[in-house]
Amino acid sequence: MADTVYQQLRGHLHHLKLTAIADQLAPALEAAERDKPPYTQFLADLLTHEVQAVEQRRLQGRLRFAKLPARKTLEQFDFTAQPNLDRRLVEDLATLRFIEDRANALLIGPPGVGKTMLATILGHRAVEAGYRVYYTTAADLVARTSRAALEGRWATTMRFWNGPQLLIIDELGYLPMPGEAASHLFQVISRRYEHGSIVLTTNRGIADWGAIFEDTTVAAAILDRLLHHATVLSITGDSYRMRAHRDAINALRPAITGGEFS
Ligand code: ADP
Ligand code: MG
Repeated sequence: MADTVYQQLRGHLHHLKLTAIADQLAPALEAAERDKPPYTQFLADLLTHEVQAVEQRRLQGRLRFAKLPARKTLEQFDFTAQPNLDRRLVEDLATLRFIEDRANALLIGPPGVGKTMLATILGHRAVEAGYRVYYTTAADLVARTSRAALEGRWATTMRFWNGPQLLIIDELGYLPMPGEAASHLFQVISRRYEHGSIVLTTNRGIADWGAIFEDTTVAAAILDRLLHHATVLSITGDSYRMRAHRDAINALRPAITGGEFS
C-alpha cells in the first residue's frame, strides 16, 4: 500500500515535471522519518529544492540570452588605475537602481580603460538580480537592424531591442555610422527611452559625436534621449591593456639590459 502511494507520488512529480523534488524525494523522506519535522516544514523544505532549481535554470537561461562577455566582478576592477573615475558613481550604478528608474549610463573613454569591463560587470549583476539583459556592439546592432529592415522583419527586430530591461551597446564610435545606420540606432534608442535602460560605451567624447554620425541632427537627437536620465562616466586615464604590456616589458627589462648582451 505504502509502495503504491509512493509510486503515485513519483508519478505526480514526473507529471508536474518537479524533477528537483523527485531527485530529493528519497533522502528527504528518510530524513523526515528520522527527524519528524512538522508537515509544513517538510513540505516547505521539499518545495525549496524545486524553487531553487527553477531559479537556477532561469538564471542560466537569462545568462545564455544576454550574450555577455566573460563574467567580471566589481572587486576585480582596479580603481587605483583610474584615479579620475568617480568610484561612487560606479558603485551607485552597481546597485542597479538605474534599471528600476529606466535610466541610462554612458561610459566614455579611450581604448583599454575598462569600458567594456564595467559594462560587463553591470550586465552580469543585472542578470543575477533577475533582469533581462542583452549585450551587443553598436556595429552589430545597426547591421542586424538594417538586415531586418531589408528582410521585412523590422517590427520584430524593434520588439527584440525593446525586450531586455538592460540593453548594453558597446563600442560606439569605432566605426563611422552613415545616415541610415544612424537612423536605425536612433530608433532603437528612442523606443527604449523611459522604457528600458541602456548602457552605452564609446571612445568619443560627446562633443565629438558629430564625427561618428554623418548627420549631426541625428547625433543630437540620440544624445538628447540618452542623456535625459543618465549617469555619465568619463574614464580619462591610461589604457589598462597597455599598462599590462608596459609592466610586462619593464619586468623583462633588467633581463634585457643586465644580460650578457648589454
Ligand atoms: P575598453 O572597453 O575601454 O577598451 P576593456 O574593458 O576591454 O577596455 O579593458 C581592457 C582590458 O583591461 C580588459 O581585459 C579589462 O578587464 C582590463 N581592465 C581595464 N581596466 C581595468 C581596471 N581598472 N582594473 C582591472 N582590469 C582592467
Ligand atoms: Mg571595449
